[in-house]
Amino acid sequence: MSMPRRRASWPLLCAAITLPCSASAAPADGEIAGEGFEVTRYALALTPDMAGGTIAGREIVSLRATREGLKRLIFSGNGLSIDSARLDGAPVAPRRGEKTLAFDLVRPLARGRTVRLELTYHGRPARGLAASATGLYTSYFACDWMICAQDKFGEKAAFSLELSVPAGMQTLSLGRRTAVRPGPDGREIHRWQAPRPYSAYLYGFAVGRFARANARVGGAELALLSDVAGETELKRRFAETPAMVRFLSAKAGLPLPVRTYSQLLVEGGEAQEAATYSVLGKDSLPSGDAVPEEDWAIVHELAHQWWGNLVTCETLRDFWLNEGITTFMTAAWKEHRYGRAAYDAELKVARARLDRARALGFDKPLAWAGRYPSLGARRAVQYSKGALFMAHLREQLGEAAFWSGLRRYTRAHAGGTVTSRDLQAAMEAASGRDLAPLFGEWVYGSNPEQTAAPQSHP
Ligand SMILES: [Zn+2]
Repeated sequence: MSMPRRRASWPLLCAAITLPCSASAAPADGEIAGEGFEVTRYALALTPDMAGGTIAGREIVSLRATREGLKRLIFSGNGLSIDSARLDGAPVAPRRGEKTLAFDLVRPLARGRTVRLELTYHGRPARGLAASATGLYTSYFACDWMICAQDKFGEKAAFSLELSVPAGMQTLSLGRRTAVRPGPDGREIHRWQAPRPYSAYLYGFAVGRFARANARVGGAELALLSDVAGETELKRRFAETPAMVRFLSAKAGLPLPVRTYSQLLVEGGEAQEAATYSVLGKDSLPSGDAVPEEDWAIVHELAHQWWGNLVTCETLRDFWLNEGITTFMTAAWKEHRYGRAAYDAELKVARARLDRARALGFDKPLAWAGRYPSLGARRAVQYSKGALFMAHLREQLGEAAFWSGLRRYTRAHAGGTVTSRDLQAAMEAASGRDLAPLFGEWVYGSNPEQTAAPQSHP
């Protein structure tokens, strides 16, 4: 996800943007969503009500106990009503905590045991589901419209979705649409299948009457969709995407990790990555008469295909690896496309944001494990300071070693999860230097206590 640019304000308000507000309290009972088990697969069938903004769903969660004697399964809380819940066929009762949804098990699970949790539910998601001109789309808060563990960044699970929509509507979700079949009441059922396991915050879908344009770059297809712009406008607005893909692929040392990458254009200021596509609002893009280098949202969300979606921070503590690197790569693209002054200008924005936080008395090491007082403060560190650290590393290591280190890091952890130590190791291997002092200063902080405590919740 990106920080709003033109609408930038300080401090940023939690309600206006998608990342969960860091000021949110941990569950009162100390229960943490996703602890003690590992989801291997989510299989969903959803029927969205476009006019009402509600959904009805069936979901099968395949999971494995990672703790001996697991007594309950805890997921992120949401506003959905659970109609039925069965574990391996036997009924289990849902129990709502302040910020959790738990299922108490009749018999504790042995470590390593795999089970199937089958759920049906309905309701109006409080977040993460927005109306578009002709339908709706999701944004970030997947566990508001399905049952999952939102903040368990390090858990990547297989994902499939069957969407029941009025005939004639188009759909977008993860990966490829693998089947269309007739549904009840004149509806159609569109089946989507993710090409690889992804973290839950990257799940999503969209439904609407979309205009469409396509392009190719390398072995990948680029799909442009919108219900607020036609094919010509889509092609004009996203004309640079193939060049961005080529640039980012070279810097990552890996081609675009998906066979089809889609960009969904909507109204407003949206800038949100999903596993294999991005949602971009018109207000986040250059307008017809604006300077073209204001294309930060397009390249930022695209860069997440490598840094964030493919190589994912293990916990929110290392979220700067998702967002700081992506913010830096936005500046690097601008340097490549528009010249050094555009790179400097992008970093100047980051520096101003960090300076603003410092003026308010807030500055932390990048991998700080504490609780951020606001979303603005979190972003000043994890987005802005993260980008500045990458730029500083580049200066310190030189062009060859820095980019070699980034390629090494990206290739070594493709499809997996990372901590700051992984980036340090890759940069050290590429440069032959001991980077402990530099990472100590910027990333871990001088006080080991600061980063020693495990982070349970953002
Ligand atoms: Zn982002």
